[in-house]
Amino acid sequence: MELRDLSDHVEYRAGRGIEEVARELGRDPAEFVKLSSNENPHGPSPKAEAAIRETASEVHRYPKAVHADLTAALADQWDVSDKQVWLANGGDGALDYLARATLAPGDRVLVPTPGFTYYGMSARFHHGEVAEYDVRTDDGFALTAERVLDAYDGERVVYLTSPHNPTGHRFTLDAVEEVADRADEDTLVVVDEAYGEFTDAPSAVSLLDERDDIAVLRTFSKAYGLAGIRLGYALTPPAWADAYARVQTPFAASAIACRAGTAALDDDEHVEQTVESVKWARQYMHDELDARTYESHGNFVLADVGDATEVAEAAKRKGVLIRDCSSFGLPEHVRITCGTREETERAVAVLNEVLAE
Ligand SMILES: *Cc1c(COP(=O)(O)O)cnc(C)c1O
Repeated sequence: MELRDLSDHVEYRAGRGIEEVARELGRDPAEFVKLSSNENPHGPSPKAEAAIRETASEVHRYPKAVHADLTAALADQWDVSDKQVWLANGGDGALDYLARATLAPGDRVLVPTPGFTYYGMSARFHHGEVAEYDVRTDDGFALTAERVLDAYDGERVVYLTSPHNPTGHRFTLDAVEEVADRADEDTLVVVDEAYGEFTDAPSAVSLLDERDDIAVLRTFSKAYGLAGIRLGYALTPPAWADAYARVQTPFAASAIACRAGTAALDDDEHVEQTVESVKWARQYMHDELDARTYESHGNFVLADVGDATEVAEAAKRKGVLIRDCSSFGLPEHVRITCGTREETERAVAVLNEVLAE
């Protein structure tokens, strides 16, 4: 037999881990810092870590009550009803559920370029087609409704990343509403707030009350430090009622993930400390890096370094892993995740050395 035609499908290329790089270079993993995947450098919430340990002895059971508990906690946090919370295996999993619930074969979606690869991948898995809007401007990456609407041509789903990965910019809530207002009635606007904790701007969740054409994506992978657990969710309009039950995989999030998420939500101190540390690191990189940086509302900073591949490779040899943005279509830019104080200082020192060579 033959597989379906996968020629349009692309592979998701995750940043390489320290172990992998250390092995390749024949070096000790302890010499490296990894600032290439926007992970939380402070680790998971200690409360989540304890919950994970406690759950170990219960994993022979399917996760039903724990799923309901986390859903209720999130509904409470966002002031929405339980049915509006679609838990999933990572934010990526939530993107799949949204695609499942909206796309018919041949429907088109509109994604940002440069941008998060999984939007297009998810749409293609669900037999959709992908069009792009460009967020590059002559002097930066300003995110406006105009840029999206200029490219918009009746797509079924439009993805807005706010704060945006990899640029760090954000859409205003007015811009989100304008896109939703001016797009067709049948178009869903997905606002991806994977980095929402790191910006002072309000969440688009407040728009869900009055509209049935916006969904918001959030994740535990970034601010909550639970990337390895794979836990994310969509917040959806009240009008969608029972759609989640019809599209979700049985037991969408594991018992360990649900318990870790519930515990992490209850650990304000960990998130606050993380956000404070990110604000410090962003400012430090803006001030100290000898390269043009862009204002960021995420836990990373985009920098224009000339030749991204060369700079990222040279930094790697000096023990600092950052993201070469060539694969995003930005061959002159690198993305540096906000590390701890020590990691960030080291990254900036190494990059400045490389840039001076
Ligand atoms: C990290 C990220 C996500 C979600 O990641 P998960 O680990 O699957 O939750 C979604 N969108 C963007 C833009 C991201 O950078």
